[in-house]
Amino acid sequence: MEKDVFCKIIDGEIPAHVVYEDNDVIAILDISQVTKGHTLVIPKKHYDTFLATPNEIMHKVMDVAQKIGQVMIDRLHAKGVNILTNCYEAAGQTVPHFHVHVIPRYEHGDGFILEMKNNAEDINLPALCNSIKTNL
Ligand code: AMP
Repeated sequence: MEKDVFCKIIDGEIPAHVVYEDNDVIAILDISQVTKGHTLVIPKKHYDTFLATPNEIMHKVMDVAQKIGQVMIDRLHAKGVNILTNCYEAAGQTVPHFHVHVIPRYEHGDGFILEMKNNAEDINLPALCNSIKTNL
């Protein structure tokens, strides 16, 4: 199977701007800077998505994402940070190797649009709640 782009970066086959690295995790600047400082935090071992990643590794990735988010506030003078991960193509995942986006936010209208509208009008919330709750 062809290596994904993050495996190639981790194996040193293609370059990246590495802001952090340890035995398990690497963080690089995203090649498309949605906002200035947009960073990806990636486990070195390949897992397809957040959902497929063992807890211990997922926690290490989130720990690095938290630290980078704080640096964006403290040093890049961001006013906020979006921390997100896309799971599967339907959710916008384009690289099938778990990664967390850390996206600093500078002001309203800084170029990144994250719209979460209320679409709950026709949804039976008690039944929905139950179907999630009973499967956890
Ligand atoms: P996603 O769409 O959530 O899977 O995010 C994948 C991200 O990887 C996108 O934001 C891309 O801009 C980024 N990306 C793709 N190739 C590279 C690369 N060679 N170096 C850094 N970031 C990359």
